[in-house]
Amino acid sequence: MYLNDMANVLRAAGLKVVEVGGWKSHNHGSMRAVRSIIAHHTAGAATGNYPSLNVVRNGRPRLEGPLAQLGLGRDGTVYVISNGVSWHAGPTINDSVYGNYYAIGIEAENTGVGQAWPAVQVDAYARMIAALCRHYKVPVSAVKGHKEICYPAGRKIDPHGLPGDMNGLRQRVQSILSGNNGGGNTPPARNLAREYGDNMLLVPAGGKSKTELDYVTVPLSILREHDLVLAPGVGAELYIKSINTWKNQFNAQNGADVMNPGGVGAILRDFTVWAPGGKSIIVPKGVAKVDIAFYSRVRWSLAVYPR
Ligand SMILES: [Zn+2]
Repeated sequence: MYLNDMANVLRAAGLKVVEVGGWKSHNHGSMRAVRSIIAHHTAGAATGNYPSLNVVRNGRPRLEGPLAQLGLGRDGTVYVISNGVSWHAGPTINDSVYGNYYAIGIEAENTGVGQAWPAVQVDAYARMIAALCRHYKVPVSAVKGHKEICYPAGRKIDPHGLPGDMNGLRQRVQSILSGNNGGGNTPPARNLAREYGDNMLLVPAGGKSKTELDYVTVPLSILREHDLVLAPGVGAELYIKSINTWKNQFNAQNGADVMNPGGVGAILRDFTVWAPGGKSIIVPKGVAKVDIAFYSRVRWSLAVYPR
């Protein structure tokens, strides 16, 4: 089994994906199945986004690449390196689950000697694993750190220093898979927080149809209620599939607290906003972020006002 759909699966999860040249023919043979996902750190250089790309793709003396199917840069970019068996696991406690023929390996860039993991990378690590679990039907219990499955025990220390260690990573994955939000659409990784000033965000046209949507994420101060005002351009139609709410995602994004997700419900569903006019929606206090699933053929505006 060759994992030729991997890049599309990860892109569909909202991740930024780089397909490394030749990845669909770069492997040590066919996977026999996908039964586990193994998290690693590269122990590479301290700077740069993914300085280990060359070694993960091409290997090192006496160990030919690929050394993992996937890489993860410090900025959350996913590098798709191989579609098949890669030499990442080595001897394991159960090769029929965690061995190279059954395990997808992810080499995330980190020195492994105490370097902090950027929040955006921690977030992407969970999102990419969740997408792989969902697509290849791997249980979260089979998401392991290399240090947890290596044989003999103690042979490996990676991944080192993730917030909450491997249990923290598995909880983030489980939270994404459980949809521990208000019950709307699966949220994207896309975050336009820095793009809106003066409370106004101009959202690009998005979605191919009312069933092929695009998403915009709007972070809010969790301390107060807000008004969201959605306004399409003159003569235009804005279709909202859902506005879904999240609690505590500010903390989650900053790596501080992923233990208490859960929104207050989807506050708008299946609604069309026509110009002129627009639609005003109250977002209750306690919501840290909303994800808007929408379809619009033209740019529209989104304003956020504290109440
Ligand atoms: Zn490793």
